[in-house]
Amino acid sequence: MKMMRNFEDIGGFPFSGLCPICRAMASQEIETLTSALSRLPGLGPRSARRAVLWLIKRRETSLVQLLDALDAVRGTLVECDTCGNVDTTNPCAICADPRRDARSLCVVEDVADLWALDRARLFTGRYHVLGGRLSALEGVRPEDLTIGQLIQRVSQGGIDEVVLAMNATLEGQTTAHYIAERLEGYPVRITQLAHGLPVGGELDYLDEGTLAQALRARRPVA
Ligand SMILES: [Zn+2]
Repeated sequence: MKMMRNFEDIGGFPFSGLCPICRAMASQEIETLTSALSRLPGLGPRSARRAVLWLIKRRETSLVQLLDALDAVRGTLVECDTCGNVDTTNPCAICADPRRDARSLCVVEDVADLWALDRARLFTGRYHVLGGRLSALEGVRPEDLTIGQLIQRVSQGGIDEVVLAMNATLEGQTTAHYIAERLEGYPVRITQLAHGLPVGGELDYLDEGTLAQALRARRPVA
């Protein structure tokens, strides 16, 4: 049987693209797309294949929308020189927003953390993205992160509080301690996100580290 190479050869999609004998998809392009999608965080080969099939079946609508969105992202996204956020403008919308409290600065490891915190709409200040966390294992040193720029922002004045919102991992906490030490001597209050019980969490399902943190951070009943 002749090897089928693309949609045109096999007479269009979705169902005429299947081999009439074995019902298998034989396009190299589809394999390439599946392989590219399977490298996305949270998507393994099976879910990538499912996503590809889903897109192929909706190629006139969802696939076109996805292509347009990817194209727009590629053409317009830039990294904010001030905070490291990714947006369509530089400075980003958060840094440029005069309603934001410039006196409060929240330090996060990655842009994803910034977006997660900002989605919650609980923090009204501005951010600083480190671009990772210190890691002896992976050879990530302070100069590999934007710690120098953070110190510079703080040293310029106008900031009262620095919130260290690192992940509750060993490396995240090492990074938080290192930054707290570097900020010693500057007239800023350094705070850290509380660790402890997750909302909806049940005690007997929690690991000992989380329980210990929750116990240490106990407070009077309001
Ligand atoms: Zn920014």
